[in-house]
Amino acid sequence: MYHGTTYTPPVETDTMLLQVTVGCKHNKCSYCNMYKELPYCAVEMERIAQELQYSRSMYSKAERIFLVDGDPLSLPTDRLLEIWALTHHYFPECKTLSTYGSVRSLAEKSDEDLSLLEAAGFNDFYIGIESGSEDIIKNVNKGITVIQAREQLNRLNSAGIDHISLIMLGIGGKDKGVNNARMTAELINSTSPKMIWASTLGVFEGTQLHDDVEKGLFNQASELEVLEEEKELIRNINLQNVPFYGTHITNTIPVSGLVTRDSNRMLETIDMGIDYLGEKSLQRTFDRASL
Ligand code: SF4
Repeated sequence: MYHGTTYTPPVETDTMLLQVTVGCKHNKCSYCNMYKELPYCAVEMERIAQELQYSRSMYSKAERIFLVDGDPLSLPTDRLLEIWALTHHYFPECKTLSTYGSVRSLAEKSDEDLSLLEAAGFNDFYIGIESGSEDIIKNVNKGITVIQAREQLNRLNSAGIDHISLIMLGIGGKDKGVNNARMTAELINSTSPKMIWASTLGVFEGTQLHDDVEKGLFNQASELEVLEEEKELIRNINLQNVPFYGTHITNTIPVSGLVTRDSNRMLETIDMGIDYLGEKSLQRTFDRASL
């Protein structure tokens, strides 16, 4: 039984989920409505054990389990290791515990903590970096800096933990996209993620960003600008054979492939999409249903 709405990365759709925290400890990003009404708390171990017991009756095999909600890495390392031990008790075949995580939570973990997590089987941390621009990250109240993001992601690399970079196109607003793309590519190039996921900013009721848009404090980028931003991002990522997914439900033209091997093909796909939809219709911003 889960509290609130459960969000998972699209590639983890078939992965067994285990709720170990409710909500997000930070819960202050200006664009985010995911856990607005949900006070953050850790799920009691007894409840996690009950959930695992129940799941065992449902799943004949689970070699990979995804922890939810927003930032399970906010739990102390001892607690995470306890969760791993309990998971292994019910699912001895489980090899990997994957999770969302924040740069803030990583900064609270020592190198020894990260080594212990890696040795236990924690891997594939989905980290919302969103942008490589210090100004933009500050404006959306992400609660981190780009310098911190670079440092913490490289600490994961040193610990042997793979991470997936989640970025958000359009997050800088009007006229900021191309520069933002270059800075984001720079951050990505210097942190070697296992995968890159690009979604597009949406403005949802109840968020600070929604208020800012209403007050004229934030001007949204047009769809065309967002697509040009995505192209600039793809052009500037110089990693080899790293999957790039621009297929999130919020994206206007889905593209995916390996950078840099498939970069030209992805750029052509976006250009063909722009031609098909017409630049005129892309001069506005589409409404988006969810993050
Ligand atoms: S975007 Fe992530 S870190 Fe920010 S409030 Fe939402 S869940 Fe928390």
